[in-house]
Amino acid sequence: MAEYKIRPLVVAKIGAVKGVATHMVDMMTPVVVPVLAFYLEGGPQKILIDTGVVSAGEDGTFHGFPLFNAGTQGMIEALADIGLKPDDIDIVIITHLHFDHAANINLFPQAQFILQKKEWEYAQAPLPIQRGVYMTEILGQLESFDLVLAEDGYEVAEGVNVICVPGHTKGQQAVVVNTSDGKYVVAGDLLYTYNNIYPEKDEIIDMFGNKIACTPQPGHAFYPPGIHTDLTDWYESVWRVLKIAGRRKHILPGHDPALMGRVFPEK
Ligand SMILES: [Zn+2]
Repeated sequence: MAEYKIRPLVVAKIGAVKGVATHMVDMMTPVVVPVLAFYLEGGPQKILIDTGVVSAGEDGTFHGFPLFNAGTQGMIEALADIGLKPDDIDIVIITHLHFDHAANINLFPQAQFILQKKEWEYAQAPLPIQRGVYMTEILGQLESFDLVLAEDGYEVAEGVNVICVPGHTKGQQAVVVNTSDGKYVVAGDLLYTYNNIYPEKDEIIDMFGNKIACTPQPGHAFYPPGIHTDLTDWYESVWRVLKIAGRRKHILPGHDPALMGRVFPEK
């Protein structure tokens, strides 16, 4: 079976309070974290997971989140850093239709897009609380592309499957990637940071290398993000992801600065 390497790409920076990453914990602690895409290399096709964030408004924010280097430019630069142009990408997997994961799709009109059918259905009418962060305006454009509305377990390519992991959104998908070190799971925003995977962690190191103290949550196997549609679904999804990945270190969260500059597997 094809073995891939997984390369997190920093496409922008986004500011939030830590309580967005870990539900209602550290609500006064500001953090700046990366907006990430992930590039899967080593197979016959060039596969990108997520397409970055929308441009900021005049005040430098979108929906209350400060953004830096946002929009198409950050996505183009992140690909250029690894010697690629948007035209080179064969397949784009969109984990979910939030503004910081599914923007800039117009850079990839030639690519095949993979989205969970459930996410596409949910995006037609998101819960009111999520309307502002959903990219409903791109649905028409997405539908004009080679859009695959995938079911749970769909094989994108040999060694790359998508699974439906609801909780953060109704139809979010995670990407199960075969590597020389077994399976890795690119979890998207099901798990924002390593603090969600290792709740006993008492710090996060931000994008600038600053150590920021966090309140540890011992006694929790996993800790949920502050943005979610259903926490019952979320718990089921995280246990399923761990079962597939086998090891916590094989789960890659959606926004952790610790992913920057690394390639997985690391050995
Ligand atoms: Zn999200």
